Amino acid sequence: MPDVETRTANAAETEALGEALAAELSANDVVYLEGDLGAGKTAFARGLARGLGASEREVASPTFALLHEYAGPSGSIVLRHLDLYRLVDALRELEVLGLPDSMEGAPVCVEWPRGALRRLLPPTVEVRIDTKPGGDGRRVSIRRAGDRAR
Ligand code: ADP
Ligand code: MG
Repeated sequence: MPDVETRTANAAETEALGEALAAELSANDVVYLEGDLGAGKTAFARGLARGLGASEREVASPTFALLHEYAGPSGSIVLRHLDLYRLVDALRELEVLGLPDSMEGAPVCVEWPRGALRRLLPPTVEVRIDTKPGGDGRRVSIRRAGDRAR
């Protein structure tokens, strides 16, 4: 997918964008989702999961509330979704997650990327969702970042 600058009119359209991006992702990709609370980052992540063939039900992550794993019909992980919103002690918790080794084999998306994560798991794609005052419209930008090294 070339870099994209677009608008979405509702959550379904934002999800559809995520689904479209999913078709371009490989296991090495790390997608950062930036934007305020309520911008639509989780909606976008839902689209990513759908586009990667996730089954309806999210695989419960037994250990870490910070990490959601989605599996396809065969049971293999198709997407990992980190949400660092409630991260209190960034460095310690990221170490507990075993980053970056524990993230291998499937694309990762990250809401509220910050702290040590930027060093441990740098982005290959940056998605930014901006809210416009008083409405459902969102401006969404998607761009390739970094050197794809991971
Ligand atoms: P975030 O994860 O960024 O905090 P969510 O995806 O959880 O945001 O929530 C976004 C909220 O905004 C949802 O209630 C959704 O229905 C609403 N919404 C309205 N318009 C849009 C849009 N264009 N894109 C995404 N979400 C939208
Ligand atoms: Mg969210």
